[in-house]
Amino acid sequence: MQHDTILFQLLEKELERQRNDIELIASENFVSYQVLKAMGSVPANKYAEGYPGKRYYGGCEVVDEIENLAIDRLKKIFNLSWANVQPHSGAQANAAVFMAVLKPGDTIMGLDLSMGGHLTHGSPANFSGKHYNVISYGVNKDTGLVEYDDLEQKALAHKPKMIICGASAYSRDWDYARIRAVADKIGAIVMADIAHPAGLIAKGLLNDPFEHCHIVTSTTHKTLRGPRGGVIMIRHDFENPWGIKDPKGNIRTMSQLLDLAVFPGLQGGPLEHIIAAKAVAFGEILDDSFTEYAKQIIRNAQAMADAFMEKGYNLISGGTDNHLMLIDLRNKNITGKKAQETLDKAFITLNKNAVPFDDKSPFVTSGIRVGVPAVTTRGLKEKDVVEVVNMIDKVLMNADNEQLIAGVREDVKEFMKQFPLYPELG
Ligand SMILES: *Cc1c(COP(=O)(O)O)cnc(C)c1O
Repeated sequence: MQHDTILFQLLEKELERQRNDIELIASENFVSYQVLKAMGSVPANKYAEGYPGKRYYGGCEVVDEIENLAIDRLKKIFNLSWANVQPHSGAQANAAVFMAVLKPGDTIMGLDLSMGGHLTHGSPANFSGKHYNVISYGVNKDTGLVEYDDLEQKALAHKPKMIICGASAYSRDWDYARIRAVADKIGAIVMADIAHPAGLIAKGLLNDPFEHCHIVTSTTHKTLRGPRGGVIMIRHDFENPWGIKDPKGNIRTMSQLLDLAVFPGLQGGPLEHIIAAKAVAFGEILDDSFTEYAKQIIRNAQAMADAFMEKGYNLISGGTDNHLMLIDLRNKNITGKKAQETLDKAFITLNKNAVPFDDKSPFVTSGIRVGVPAVTTRGLKEKDVVEVVNMIDKVLMNADNEQLIAGVREDVKEFMKQFPLYPELG
């Protein structure tokens, strides 16, 4: 078999793009070289349906050890009693929770997608919106903060079986205790989806959802800085007071129902090479260096938010508690779509994003979402992200000046040379 020149040239090209760009997509990050190596490793060849010690195939002794290592490290990070590391993605993790605790047609509540929520929290385009009765809550038009009073009123009126908290474009922390208090009034399950801020929660820099939320899901590739994937976690496993039954009609604990929902409910064979990479990433999170990384994320986000506001940019909620900010560009007379496309030309990568109560379509939008986890991994500090804001502002204020944009692109390439990415790859 010949070396696949075509494909490997494309990989070189993508590496070059990642090295040159200022990566500000809030959901992206750069895994370490050892995480990358584990992802392209030999358990990729292995079938291992089932769980450690209870597999449907032979030859699983080593992948059992790998998966147990990932589970043990994750438990240690968040002080858990149970975790499942098999979900192929964050969306799969959420789907498994739905499958474990709900029946089609049950009522759920989640943050509206247009207010910063996620597709899997009840969007009509997603399984969560198609198969369940969805009541959405939102944020306040003036403050940009979650409307907990409105959430409570709607919960008492509609009695959802599950309330979901967590978001993809929300720059403030969550009041998990408040949501749990509401849920307890109606006997609802609380699920927190910490896909975005998990790495900050891991180091105690944001409120702890685990004491208040029955079930917590996350991706592993955002602030957790691991391979693309998902996890489901429980700190205090509980006896299923709702009497939810497994497919054979037996009442089970929550963790048992969730294991059954991931496999055989939703997925087939786990991706053991990805689980190996999750184990590596979790090991890195347990190290003190990750504490410093998580703190730097917050310092960078604060510095960036201040720099944007000094230049007259309108940040939803007036700032950030976490790793991202949502900017309403309407006072700058540029749409989110045009901003994203123009910044792309200058090798500054971010995404257009609807702002709460947006009057433009999701394909155009009035805003952009800006996140710092990836540039913080590259090594940028406060003064560097202020420099990035200067470059963004220059491009957005001269969005039709191709020559100026080409100049910024050269500046960006030069600037990012200070922050090497994967020197191991030559
Ligand atoms: C990113 C994200 C997910 C989904 O992750 P995928 O791995 O892309 O499926 C789920 N929930 C929230 C809140 C997210 O931000």
